[in-house]
Amino acid sequence: MYERILVRYGDLTLKGRNKRIFVERVNHLIREKVNNPNVTYEKNHDRLYILLNGEDHDAVIRGLDKVSGLSSYSLITKTDRDMDSIKAKALEAVQSELDDKVVRFKVETKRADKHYPIKSPDVSKQVAAHVLRHTELLQVDVHNPELTLNVEIRHNGAYVYCKKIKGMGGFPVGVAGKGMLMLSGGIDSPVAGFLAMKQGVEIECVHFESTPLTSIESAQKVIDLTEKLAVFAPGNKLKLHMVPFKELHEALLDHVPESYNITVMRRMMYRISEKLAKQRDCLVLINGESIGQVASQTLESMVTISDVVRMPILRPLATYDKLDIIAISRRLDMYEISTRPFEDCCTVYVPKKPTTAPKKRRSGYYETTFDYETMIDDTVARTITIDVHANKHRDLTSEGWIVRDVLTDKQ
Ligand code: ATP
Ligand code: MG
Repeated sequence: MYERILVRYGDLTLKGRNKRIFVERVNHLIREKVNNPNVTYEKNHDRLYILLNGEDHDAVIRGLDKVSGLSSYSLITKTDRDMDSIKAKALEAVQSELDDKVVRFKVETKRADKHYPIKSPDVSKQVAAHVLRHTELLQVDVHNPELTLNVEIRHNGAYVYCKKIKGMGGFPVGVAGKGMLMLSGGIDSPVAGFLAMKQGVEIECVHFESTPLTSIESAQKVIDLTEKLAVFAPGNKLKLHMVPFKELHEALLDHVPESYNITVMRRMMYRISEKLAKQRDCLVLINGESIGQVASQTLESMVTISDVVRMPILRPLATYDKLDIIAISRRLDMYEISTRPFEDCCTVYVPKKPTTAPKKRRSGYYETTFDYETMIDDTVARTITIDVHANKHRDLTSEGWIVRDVLTDKQ
């Protein structure tokens, strides 16, 4: 019975130019994710109507679920403003929602047009009476209803809907500028990337891979996770920078005492990420660190590790509980990928006793024992960037076992 979807934008406390940019961006994303040439769009101040023109509403809603910056949407129907038309549509709407559970209902009316001759509470009463007259086993309960029927009276017509579907919230991806996501194959960093995107940050991803020290399957996890994240990105694609980390990784394993391996490795990753971020006009680094999770994520570690870069670092998960992170990972369909049992460069050669309180001076001293700066420049130069598409799967594992060789062949 519903011929359109009402889309409500997110944070509209924004004003002036910012609001215009927000709305333009979000409208663009909506068209892209809905991706259906047969639906049409009707803009109306602070909201948008999608006219279904006979298309399946579930498919359109699945598209909207991928758009950051939307607060909610409703299947809605438009009718004339006279009470008979409103009552008829209201009854139809209630009937389409009735199931065994619904007993208590209420009608809520809003008048955007304050000149409408009947006051909102009276519209609600009349509509409720009409619904009760033509249905069975329903009763009005304004405090604890199982079903709320909404009537909105606007200048150009009356609108009727029952359900509000919660949107992703946040800001349209891109309005906040760009960040470089340090993406491992684990659970946390892809969730961190999602949360940053949800808040309007466009991302590119950097991954440190040490094939053949690590398996190509661990790099594949990263590609698969990037494909999942790309669903939310403009153009349904993301850039992934694959950093060949093996040489630097081996050098630091050779030169740095075991308890400082992880600290120095992280410092190298940060340095390289910052260089790539600057090259790509990113304003911040983003990672999946969460306070206390592992030795390298104590506050002391974070201080010592991030000391080597000047760029601000977003840690969307810093204060999250692991179970909450896992819940998001599952919702995004990433958990199964993240928990595939392949080691990445942080899990091979894990020191038996990593320090949980590494010192800046000590880390700096160990780093003087090898020429890491030249190695970093060389590593950055050999980094390969690929576009990862949400809807085009890329399988590296069928192509070889050294990531760089596989990607260089196919450039
Ligand atoms: P994750 O589940 O994201 O791997 P984690 O709890 O395993 O997180 P660590 O392995 O200590 O944490 O890594 C901390 C953060 O460092 C990660 O969230 C990620 O942002 C970054 N990171 C770790 N390994 C890599 C890598 N190989 N490539 C890119 N970034 C990495
Ligand atoms: Mg990890």
